[in-house]
Amino acid sequence: MKVAVIGAGFAGLAAAVDLQERRHQVTLLERRGVLGGRATSYRDAVSGEDVDNGTHLMVGAYAATFDLLRRAGAEDLLIFQDDLHIDYVDDRGWSALDCPPLAAPLHLLAGLLSLRLPWAVRWQALRLWMAVRFGKPPLGMTLAEYLRRNGQGPDARRLLWDPLATAILNETPERAAAVLFYNVYREAFLTRRDASRLVFLRRGYAELHERVARYFQHRGGVLRRRALAETIPIEGGRVCGVRYLQRAETRDEIRQGKDAVAGFVDADAVVAAVPWNAVPPLVPEALRAQPPFAGLARLGGSPIVSVEMWLDRVVVDRPMAGLRDSEMEWVFDKGSIYGRTGPPQHLAFIVSAARRSAERSNQELVASAEASLRRYFPAMAGAAVTRSLVLREADATFASDPEAEAVRPGPVTPVRGLYLAGDWTATGLPATIEGAVRSGLAAARAAEAG
Ligand SMILES: Cc1cc2nc3c(=O)[nH]c(=O)nc-3n(C[C@H](O)[C@H](O)[C@H](O)COP(=O)(O)OP(=O)(O)OC[C@H]3O[C@@H](n4cnc5c(N)ncnc54)[C@H](O)[C@@H]3O)c2cc1C
Repeated sequence: MKVAVIGAGFAGLAAAVDLQERRHQVTLLERRGVLGGRATSYRDAVSGEDVDNGTHLMVGAYAATFDLLRRAGAEDLLIFQDDLHIDYVDDRGWSALDCPPLAAPLHLLAGLLSLRLPWAVRWQALRLWMAVRFGKPPLGMTLAEYLRRNGQGPDARRLLWDPLATAILNETPERAAAVLFYNVYREAFLTRRDASRLVFLRRGYAELHERVARYFQHRGGVLRRRALAETIPIEGGRVCGVRYLQRAETRDEIRQGKDAVAGFVDADAVVAAVPWNAVPPLVPEALRAQPPFAGLARLGGSPIVSVEMWLDRVVVDRPMAGLRDSEMEWVFDKGSIYGRTGPPQHLAFIVSAARRSAERSNQELVASAEASLRRYFPAMAGAAVTRSLVLREADATFASDPEAEAVRPGPVTPVRGLYLAGDWTATGLPATIEGAVRSGLAAARAAEAG
C-alpha cells in the first residue's frame, strides 16, 4: 500500500515508522525543515546548547513512545529516574514527593505520606486515591468539580493537585476535563511502580526526531522536509494522494532562492498527523462542515510560555524543582540534564495554561523568573543573569474541557483512505507525547485494516 503521512511530529513519525516497518511505501511530508512539531529544539548559536521549544518531560508510563524510540535506536537519549522524585519549594522551604521502591500503588501512598503536608491534606489525598482506584471515570465534569466531590480542600489543591494537574493537562482544573486526569493518574500511579518515574532527555528533542527519521529512511521511507501539504484530493469518496508545495530544502537551495514547486504524492491512504486547526484546510470545502471536521473548530488552544536563562554561576542545585506560589511553575537545570556541570548555568522555566503570562512582555517574564530564583535560592544573591530567551507556544496543546472530549475524533473518517492522528484525537489522554504516539499507531492500524 502507498501511504502519505502529513506532519513529522510524534504522531506522524510513529505512524510513518509503523507502516514502513510493515513494508508499506510511506512518504512523510513535513512543512518545516526541523522535525518534531510541538516537541522540538534548536541549537543555540551563542551557548552551543540545545534549546527546546519548551521543556518536555515524559513519565515511565509512555510505553508506546519508548517502544518507538527503542526500535529507532534512540533509547540512549533517555534518562530515567530510579523512582518518582519531585522537589518543591515555597516560602516554607523545600519538600519532596519521594516514592520509595515499593510495588504500585504503595509507592505513591508512601510518597504522599512522606511529603511535608498537613494531616488533613494527606487524608484528602488518600480519599482521592480511593476514588480513582475504585470509582468510575468522571465523564462530563471538570477536574475542579471532581476534586470538590471527592473532598479535596483548598490546601490539597494548592499543595498537590493544581501544580500537578496544570502541568499534565496544560489547563486549569476549573476548565480541564476530569477524565483525563483520572486516566493519567491510573496509568502513571496505579499500575507499575516504574510508570510514575520521570524521564528526561539528554539532548534537545530535535535530535530524537532526527534519529527516528533516520531509522524510517533507512527502512526505505521517503521524508520530504519543507513540504507543505495543501490539499488531499478525493475522487469517488476515496483519497488519491496529497498535493503539496515543495519549498527549497537544503541550505544551498534556500540561499540560491530556489522557487517552491508543486508536488503530488500518489497514495492509497493518507494519515493527517497535523494539529487540529490544520486539518480542515486540507480537505475539500464541502467536507469541512461535516463531522468530524466541523467539530474541530470547537477545539481551542492553550498556551505554554518558557524562559531560558543563563547564570554566571550555579544557583539551582537539582535537575528540576516545582516553584509553588510563583508565576514560573517549574525550573529545570538544562545544563546538568545535558550532562554539563559548572557555570554558566543554563536554566529553563515553564508556565503551563499560561494565558496570563502570554500577555506579558519578555522583560516582565524574565524578571519574574529571576525573582523566583532570588526568593527560593540563596545562592542567587551574588549571581548575575548573563542571557535570557523567552519562548511562546500560543497553541501548545488543545484546550481541554469536558465538551472537547466529545469532539475529539478517532482515527477513521467518513472519507475512505483518510485517517487522523495527533495528540488532539480521542486517545483518552491529555495532549502529550504518549497520546500523540498512540494516535499515530492507531491511525496506522486503521489504514492497514482499510
Ligand atoms: C512548550 C510545550 C511543552 C510541552 N510539554 C510536554 C511534556 O512535558 N510532556 C508531554 O508529554 N507533552 C508535552 N507537550 C505536548 C507535546 O509536545 C505534544 O502533545 C506532541 O508533541 C504533539 O505531537 P503531534 O505529532 O500530535 O503534533 P505536532 O507536534 O504539532 O506535529 C504536527 C506536525 O505537522 C506539521 N504540519 C502542520 N501542517 C502541515 C502541513 N500542511 N503540511 C505538512 N506538515 C504540516 C507541523 O509542522 C508539525 O511538525 C508540550 C507541548 C509544548 C508546546
